[in-house]
Amino acid sequence: MSASDNSNGRVAVVTGASSGIGAATARRLAQDGFQVVLGARRVDRISELADEIGGRASYLDVTDAASVERFIAALDRVDVLVNNAGGAKGLAPVADADLDDWRWMWETNVIGTLRITKGLLPKLADSGDGLIITVTSTAALEAYDNGAGYTSAKHAQGVLHRTLRLELIGTPIRLTEICPGMVETEFSLVRFDGDTAKADAVYEGLEPLVADDIADIISFTASRPSRVDIDQIVVRPRDQATSRRNIKTG
Ligand code: NAP
Repeated sequence: MSASDNSNGRVAVVTGASSGIGAATARRLAQDGFQVVLGARRVDRISELADEIGGRASYLDVTDAASVERFIAALDRVDVLVNNAGGAKGLAPVADADLDDWRWMWETNVIGTLRITKGLLPKLADSGDGLIITVTSTAALEAYDNGAGYTSAKHAQGVLHRTLRLELIGTPIRLTEICPGMVETEFSLVRFDGDTAKADAVYEGLEPLVADDIADIISFTASRPSRVDIDQIVVRPRDQATSRRNIKTG
């Protein structure tokens, strides 16, 4: 069945749809009948995926105000926003912190989420039943060694999202925060600047989640009746108990 055969007439925007969780989510929401708008910087990838799922690809750099404005201006209607664009750079103790890495993480995860969410609030409210899903992380809930740049950005992104839940009470907008543990995507490749050996080592000796596991949860969340707000979901692999404790660390 093609995406248009089961259309539910609703529009879902997925940021960071060029790989990992965002790509899996775009695919899944299209199967659920959403008209999906895919945003990311790697337009070749989102265009290919949009063609496959009957969605629309649109260049988006969440760190660039003009790009976000253009992205939003091209949208007539938005029912669901999945704030997924983000990631980590580096894994260094605070004593050796790389300020550019920190800036990248804060600009992308925090200010990027703020820009796109703030810009889409009117359209989400106009839909009469808006839903904002923000993919933060277990790093939004816990600190771990060498991770302060990422954990502090994810904590801030989580607090931004949770504050909106308070501020938007009484409006027709629901908010769900999804906090995944380890998911095997391009996340570690980006964190380690393209070093495949380092990235692969993260997932060796345990079974991580896959992007579809998170897309499943997003699909479930987006298909609840309007009265239901799933506030927060924490999901980890069976092999990982906390950010610092997993089957390898014992
Ligand atoms: P991924 O495969 O590296 O995907 C990251 C996505 O973010 C890409 O599509 C990338 O697209 C996009 N992105 C990065 N910077 C962007 C920017 N400036 N503007 C627009 N899009 C941008 O990693 P992932 O694991 O799927 O990550 C998705 C989200 O899940 C992130 O917020 C991440 O922090 C979170 N998360 C991941 C894990 C994990 O273990 N993998 C765990 C918890 C939370 P372009 O590069 O094409 O722009």
